[in-house]
Amino acid sequence: MRSPSPRPGPRTAETVAITTGRRTAYLVVLVVLPVLSLILAVPAAWGWGIGPRDLVIAVAMYFVSIFGIAIGYHRLFTHRAFACDRGLRIALMLAGGMAVEGPLTLWAAEHRRHHKYADREGDPHSPWRYGDSGLALLRGMLHAQVGWFYTARRRSSPPHWVPDLLADPDVRRFDAAYPAVVAMSFALPAAVGGLWSMSWQGAWSALLWGGLIRYAVVHHVTWSVNSIAHTFGERPFRTRDRSSNVRWVATLTLGEGWHNWHHAEPTCARHGVLKGQFDPSARLIRWFERAGWAHGVRWPDPARLISHRADRVP
Ligand SMILES: [Zn+2]
Ligand SMILES: [Zn+2]
Repeated sequence: MRSPSPRPGPRTAETVAITTGRRTAYLVVLVVLPVLSLILAVPAAWGWGIGPRDLVIAVAMYFVSIFGIAIGYHRLFTHRAFACDRGLRIALMLAGGMAVEGPLTLWAAEHRRHHKYADREGDPHSPWRYGDSGLALLRGMLHAQVGWFYTARRRSSPPHWVPDLLADPDVRRFDAAYPAVVAMSFALPAAVGGLWSMSWQGAWSALLWGGLIRYAVVHHVTWSVNSIAHTFGERPFRTRDRSSNVRWVATLTLGEGWHNWHHAEPTCARHGVLKGQFDPSARLIRWFERAGWAHGVRWPDPARLISHRADRVP
């Protein structure tokens, strides 16, 4: 198996302790607020529904956020599956930031640790952490979905896992400006809604649907890769973990739910490699490549697709 990332620094600690204040912030932003937003969506949809303007804004923000995470945070920055021009790199960084899933270096550090220890001791979010029996697995899935954000007493240390990203001035600037990026993730839909309708009411309803509810949905869709796509589904490729393919997760995450091949070959730019596995994120990377904006794309190697097959007789 190829290494998922450039080799981490050998003499730095893998994890660092988290302060209580920071854990509380994670609890609010990553666990409680999304749940409250989803609860809020029920009376909002029941009471006055979602109009076409808010639907267009929310769907556009959803696509920007999910593509930003899948193509930017994940495939480009965490796994170096391709390289691209500075303008596109910055655009992908900002798009990923719209998802409100944390600064880039922290996201990438947690994810590189996930690949190193997937479903074993040291994985920050394995659903198998508490065991295989019904209740233990349910508890593990909740842990993988959002529980670990709050229960973990230690975070993956960026200096250990992502020295390459910390050496990038654009990434450092982006992380320093992360609070402003989060503010933009909510201000942008509100501004578009307000200007489109030329009313404060239009700004508020766009903030609700395109900001709050969209961010909550994006979160739970993304985290379902960590919980569902490490629990259910098919595993056509040989890996050391329980990563799997789940079609509905792949549809909602624009390709990320084809998670089994991703663990077999983490640096590959395409995750849906089998017949019928549509991977919109890989398709977009292909378009970037054709436009001359992306280069050095690591497309799947046909020989490795065969050698990694789980049903292959050695
Ligand atoms: Zn995984
Ligand atoms: Zn990955």
